[in-house]
Amino acid sequence: MTNRAQAEINLDAIAHNVAMLKKSAGTPIMAVVKADAYGHGLIPVAKVCIDAGAQWLGVALLEEAISLRQSGIQAPILSWLVPPGSDFLNAITFDIDLGVASIEIFQEIVAASKQLAKKARIHIEVDTGMTRGGFLDEWDAFLELLSENREDIEIVGLFSHFARADEPGEPQNAKQLKRFFEMSDDLNRIGIEPTLHHLSNSAATIADASSHFDLVRTGIAMYGLSPDVEHMGSSKDLGLLPSMTLRAKIHLVKKVLSGTPVGYGATAVTKSDTTLAVIAMGYADGIPRSAQLAGVFSQGRRAPIIGRVSMDQFVVDLGADSTAVAGDWVIVFGPGTLGEFTADDWGKASSSINYEIVTRIGPRVPKIYTNSAK
Ligand SMILES: *Cc1c(COP(=O)(O)O)cnc(C)c1O
Repeated sequence: MTNRAQAEINLDAIAHNVAMLKKSAGTPIMAVVKADAYGHGLIPVAKVCIDAGAQWLGVALLEEAISLRQSGIQAPILSWLVPPGSDFLNAITFDIDLGVASIEIFQEIVAASKQLAKKARIHIEVDTGMTRGGFLDEWDAFLELLSENREDIEIVGLFSHFARADEPGEPQNAKQLKRFFEMSDDLNRIGIEPTLHHLSNSAATIADASSHFDLVRTGIAMYGLSPDVEHMGSSKDLGLLPSMTLRAKIHLVKKVLSGTPVGYGATAVTKSDTTLAVIAMGYADGIPRSAQLAGVFSQGRRAPIIGRVSMDQFVVDLGADSTAVAGDWVIVFGPGTLGEFTADDWGKASSSINYEIVTRIGPRVPKIYTNSAK
């Protein structure tokens, strides 16, 4: 290892998770690889997901979809965050399926289809209660417009997204499911029956078979992380293998006396004589500045953060008897099998979630791909 920090991505762990999710869903899987595959690296992750049996790829942005195509991937790709003014000509040319969430977007896609004399493939997104993406107030007007333009586009899918699937049994889930059926019926009444109905994210894939339909869209669980540790259990409880291990080098080690203030604002003071280590990573690399009660794993034990996280570095308390030296590697987080902190721990420590911890690892941190089954 030649860097001062690196994120190791265990591709075998991702393959294991995809295969497991596919088996439990009993439907095809759309591997959600938006946001640089949740910080794990778009292209290598997309390829391993396809090799492990995912038939579809899902991304938010058109740029992400185009990067996938340019890397030679031929699997169907859905891009669902395509605001007005997106490059729909390019999207259609690259055979990228498009999420349609408003009349304005639909009209731009129809215009691009006509210009190219090639039908766009669309998935109609409906807002079933999350009040984020998809048709809500425009629905009836859209149905009319769709009837008029149906020959100009290919209607591949109907989809929606759950707000609270990570709280199995929560009544809002049943309400959203009901609304999804109603909106599906609305389409049928104008003679439209999309091939693919999809509603499940990772949480619903794991916890709610009634919403699997024709395809499930799995993100976080493919990376080996629980959609909600509190309501659904840990990775281990769910049989998932966390795929990212974040390592950093110790830049300096220093012995200090009790009562020594540490870091900006001197927000922490040592409580006894101890050994501190400066870790060569900071909030510019995705270490949350708000993190309390997290730390690193050094020489087989946890060393807690002391003081504020800086832009490029943070300080941990190794304990008086530590023999760690500058240049040693520590684990910031990993699967937890050795006793190291996990992405779940860092999420909790910063009043956030594992999704945000892995996704925000910064571009200065190189990714290294490994293939070890555990
Ligand atoms: C991000 C996203 C997913 C994946 O969600 P996970 O909770 O990570 O499984 C699925 N569908 C849509 C529309 C998304 O935006």
